[in-house]
Amino acid sequence: MFEERRRALVEKLVREGYARSEHVINALLRVPRELFVPEELVELAYEDTPLPIGFGQTISAPHMVALMTELAELKPGHKVLEIGAGSGYHAAVMAEVVAPSSAPREEWGHVYTVERIKGLVELARRNLRRAGYADRVTVVEGDGTLGYSEAAPFDRIIVTASAPHLPPPLAEQLKPRGRIIIPIGDKYLQHLYLIVKSEEGKLKYSKITPCLFVPLIGRYGWRE
Ligand code: SAM
Repeated sequence: MFEERRRALVEKLVREGYARSEHVINALLRVPRELFVPEELVELAYEDTPLPIGFGQTISAPHMVALMTELAELKPGHKVLEIGAGSGYHAAVMAEVVAPSSAPREEWGHVYTVERIKGLVELARRNLRRAGYADRVTVVEGDGTLGYSEAAPFDRIIVTASAPHLPPPLAEQLKPRGRIIIPIGDKYLQHLYLIVKSEEGKLKYSKITPCLFVPLIGRYGWRE
């Protein structure tokens, strides 16, 4: 039943232009979103909408996950940093691209995802374990505006909460030719940005689309 609904949702995301590449489409088809939403909302797992996950936070809408993952241009073998693990769903989708279930483990990349709320760190770990992604995704507790220097530098950085500006540690921890996808703006109006780092370390910002995310709270984000 969920598989049919998942397929119908992915077909809709393809029709609407959010999911385009084969590897993103395959990842969305493979990751069971029903394992990442609260049990009482499982009937809504394949609606294209954000859903509450507790602690005042949300699992992002599937079209936003598809759009951000496409913009990131992830490749198998990439090392990815996500800020804002939440339910762990977006991290699982990215893991399915950089470390596909079908590829040998030696070729797998890895996703590091940082979360500031302890209850959500535990939730994301539990969800990722149940869905089979525990060895491709590491959930780290902390302030993601500081990045994650222990595993830097990263090929790609995805921020899933809205920032007042790009946190400087994220720019520093990105490899040359790397990409950052981040919502920037205030509480009421934000835009999704694609930021590309040149070989020389220069950052080029492209404004993609208006969006609405929960706030990025931390040293280089908003105050609590
Ligand atoms: N990617 C998530 C998913 O797939 O379920 C959705 C993320 S939710 C829209 C944003 C998350 O960012 C929340 O869980 C929130 O606690 C977290 N967050 C906010 N500020 C943060 C920070 N400085 N460091 C780490 N996580 C942060």
